[in-house]
Amino acid sequence: MSIGMTEKPRKAIATKPFVPELIYFEPEALHYPMGIRIRDWALREGIPHKMTTSHNRITNLPGETETEQYKIAKRTLVVGLRKTLKFDTSKPSAEYAIPLATGCMGHCHYCYLQTTLGAKPYVRVYVNIDDILGAAKNYIDERSPEITRFEAACTSDPLGLEHITGSLAETIAFMAKQPLGRLRFVSKFHHVDSLLGIAHGGHTRVRFSVNADYVIRSFEPATSRFAERIEAAGKIARAGYPLGFIIAPIIWFDGWENGYAELLKRLAAELPPEAGRDLTFELIQHRFTKTAKTIIQKRYPKTKLEMDEAKRKKKWGRWGQNKYVYPDEQADALRMFITERIFEAFPNAKIEYFT
Ligand code: SF4
Repeated sequence: MSIGMTEKPRKAIATKPFVPELIYFEPEALHYPMGIRIRDWALREGIPHKMTTSHNRITNLPGETETEQYKIAKRTLVVGLRKTLKFDTSKPSAEYAIPLATGCMGHCHYCYLQTTLGAKPYVRVYVNIDDILGAAKNYIDERSPEITRFEAACTSDPLGLEHITGSLAETIAFMAKQPLGRLRFVSKFHHVDSLLGIAHGGHTRVRFSVNADYVIRSFEPATSRFAERIEAAGKIARAGYPLGFIIAPIIWFDGWENGYAELLKRLAAELPPEAGRDLTFELIQHRFTKTAKTIIQKRYPKTKLEMDEAKRKKKWGRWGQNKYVYPDEQADALRMFITERIFEAFPNAKIEYFT
């Protein structure tokens, strides 16, 4: 991690690309080039692998306790076919979620995948990329002459898996050829080198999830460090991709003003001038449901994440459950303060939404 004003000097150790401890293959996956590539990689790396009848039915994962099993599941890769080619909607960032993978090896305490993935926290990747891109093409045609945007990071962090799958590279190249198709994804990882030479046609917006240093250090284990993400953002900007940042979850903590001011200062200081040309920000305040709170407290019992319903405003959620956001006064203060810092640092940036 680079040395910010709020950080003590620390030895920088590069975050290594994810290597699973165990891989499951659906037999059919080995009929696809991506499946064969992953199997060959597993053999080269000496990663134990097994066959499974369905990527949705992985049972008997090792581990004595539920928490241990959860940790092992997060380091287990399942290679299968995407059967459902009906895409979910993905408001407000895009029209549809394009399913390249499900699950993530990161351990962000607040991650909503903990509730949405329920008992299946292992990482699933889909080898039938041509079917997935074919379905995307149909969605694009249906909405013509409107532009259709696809979000690739709704159920995973696909950049963190790109060295294994190559799916993002294929999707970026596909979208470059679609006059009415756009791709976007967000990541907390920094392994972008394989994407830099792709003819992307400006049709893919790469966003990095960033936060105040306190939030990254306290709640985002097993992801790339802030300095690595910024360096990757610089490379992406120099490769001509439209760039964006998602500041999420925005958290009210002691010293939040300094924390978020420092974040924007560091972004402005460390990004190359090209980055400011076509730059977007998306702002998402922290929220939780009662179900999420129970799961988080079980899986990360020492978390400092504040989840006190009495301090929050209740809001009816899209999935039929109440969620708890900050009361209006706090949400407005966060939104206004961060918006001002963004425009000070990047006068031409666009803030897409605050939610
Ligand atoms: Fe969840 Fe993103 Fe963290 Fe992965 S990197 S655990 S998807 S918040």
